[in-house]
Amino acid sequence: MPAKAIVISIGDEILYGQTLDTNSHWISGELDNLGIRVLKKITIGDTKTDILSNLKEAEEKADIVLLTGGLGPTNDDLTKPCLTEYFNTHLVRNEDAYENIKEIFEKAGWEMNESNLQQADLPANCTAIKNSIGTASGMWFDTEGKVIVSMPGVPFEMKQMMTDSILPRLKAQFVSDGIYHRMIRTIGIGESKLAELIKDWEDQLPNEIKLAYLPTMGAVKLRLTADSDTDLVKESIQKQIDEVLPIIEKYVYGFDDEEIPNAIGRILQERGQTLAIAESCTGGYLSHLTTSVPGSSEWFRGGMIPYSNDLKRDQLGVEEKILDEDGAVSEPVVLALAENVRKTINADIGISVSGIAGPGGGTEQKPVGTVWIGYADKDKSVAKKFRFIRNREINIKYSAIAAFNMIRINLDKD
Ligand code: ATP
Repeated sequence: MPAKAIVISIGDEILYGQTLDTNSHWISGELDNLGIRVLKKITIGDTKTDILSNLKEAEEKADIVLLTGGLGPTNDDLTKPCLTEYFNTHLVRNEDAYENIKEIFEKAGWEMNESNLQQADLPANCTAIKNSIGTASGMWFDTEGKVIVSMPGVPFEMKQMMTDSILPRLKAQFVSDGIYHRMIRTIGIGESKLAELIKDWEDQLPNEIKLAYLPTMGAVKLRLTADSDTDLVKESIQKQIDEVLPIIEKYVYGFDDEEIPNAIGRILQERGQTLAIAESCTGGYLSHLTTSVPGSSEWFRGGMIPYSNDLKRDQLGVEEKILDEDGAVSEPVVLALAENVRKTINADIGISVSGIAGPGGGTEQKPVGTVWIGYADKDKSVAKKFRFIRNREINIKYSAIAAFNMIRINLDKD
């Protein structure tokens, strides 16, 4: 039986809709990777009665309770006083926490005040978890075989604590046989089509390997999971991946954690090629995703945002006549943009996007969501029309994903 966990996110700002609870999302994924089952995720405000009652219920139901938020030095941060009351204990100055806060203040050249010092006062029955980037110490409580852990709400502080100390401790205490996941990442094919294509393979999968279809924006991930992470299980999953690959190869862009921009970067780097981007309706988003890939300077030369027609004409040489006759969202325009940005920026590949993201600007011939994407390399230029049907924000995101896929498809044909 896998250990069971409950994750509690604390903070009025989450209930008000001002902060998206990314902490519990990330924590659940990490626990799942270890083979710990997350029973529930709970979000509550900075309210003493809610913190105490949910803590009690969670401790009854789960082996592990992970709390984030409400650890700051201000009066609205109630998690520490609640934990002190919950365990019927008192605060004591924790030397490890004190040294850590002192070190942070010394490094920054700041003076410590009383409220900073008070952050080193922790419930007497906890072990401090070092926060090397912030002053709110984490707290680990052992209670009759169960564990309650309190962490700061700030996502990067929480992640650093989880990665450095909490996950290894939970693994040592609760995990004997982990869960093993592999992910095959596909793009350019819908979930049901994919299921149809791999039906025979899916039907013959051994019982101990579970398959899940995980559709995300413009892509579908296939997750293979087994309840154990022995070498034998890993080999067995690899064998299944090797068998399905020839059937879906043209849709597969990567494996496991690799997102499409990272996959494009890897492929371009392997081929020693560079990319230039001319993006209109995506307004820089495609370049942003590109530069979010570590090491992108090796293969990304740069991007331009010729949003207005005169920039398309003056900066990237799109003929006035084409703009007048075909409009900015058209095949000849994205072809010219891709070809010219490639030359202007001196890259091996040019990619361009021009579309109507919405909500306004659509016509009968070119409704909202019409997006043209162009691709050019030294041998060929191609363009494709897409029709996205969502709101502005999502249409922009879909366009960027489709542009990456356009690069992948055309490179593969070389
Ligand atoms: P600090 O000591 O820095 O004040 P804290 O533990 O008191 O940390 P909070 O005050 O609850 O944390 O939250 C700090 C910031 O962290 C919030 O402004 C919010 O942006 C972010 N945050 C809090 N909880 C979450 C969460 N569950 N998911 C994502 N972000 C969160």
